[in-house]
Amino acid sequence: MELNDRQTKIIEIVKQSAPITSEQIAEKLDLTRATLRPDLAILTMSGFLEARPRVGYFYTGQTLQSLFAEQIEKFKVREFLSSPVVVSESASAYDAVCEMFREDVGSLFVVNRQGFLAGVLSRKDLLRAAIGTQNMNQVPVSMIMSRMPNITSCHAEDPIIAVAELIIEKQVDAVPVVRERNGGLEVIGRITKTNITKVFVQLARGTTN
Ligand code: ADP
Repeated sequence: MELNDRQTKIIEIVKQSAPITSEQIAEKLDLTRATLRPDLAILTMSGFLEARPRVGYFYTGQTLQSLFAEQIEKFKVREFLSSPVVVSESASAYDAVCEMFREDVGSLFVVNRQGFLAGVLSRKDLLRAAIGTQNMNQVPVSMIMSRMPNITSCHAEDPIIAVAELIIEKQVDAVPVVRERNGGLEVIGRITKTNITKVFVQLARGTTN
């Protein structure tokens, strides 16, 4: 539907000053309440504004959207992370495949001798290695993994929505949750697309089960 100039102005006023009464809106526009009544009725009936008795008008887009955004922003990585599954840099690609099946995960994090994050190994990294005629027992994971410093990671206190954005932007399935220690990154968890799906379910149902 097309809004007229006055209706657009009313929405702007309500967005900025909600909750606001019709008297206050009329005052801001230098009009009478009676003149505003039809516009307010149209805006309320069409769902742009919500009128609460004795409180005033709210911009519905603003209230719903901002309430939802506020709620999502509160979900932190630490509430949703899963245990990380790690292999050492010197493990073979064959060992990595076995570990993926044993642990039922799609991504492994690779750690160096000090136990710090060195890389990430995905299913496709392993399939790519397997396509050649190479003996998977003789290929160390360090040869086929994506490596630091090009690893996308996150922290336990980050909002989970920020990690969801990273997963989309970087086109990866899993992000290691890390903590800085003695100049390296210790892996303390993982966030995958499954964890993000659980956030979505929790928002809708109030539970992840
Ligand atoms: P798949 O390759 O099985 O589809 P991904 O989409 O997660 O799984 O991985 C795509 C590529 O990105 C792989 O080469 C993988 O090593 C790399 N990768 C995966 N996760 C990360 C990450 N968190 N940071 C950097 N690179 C990653």
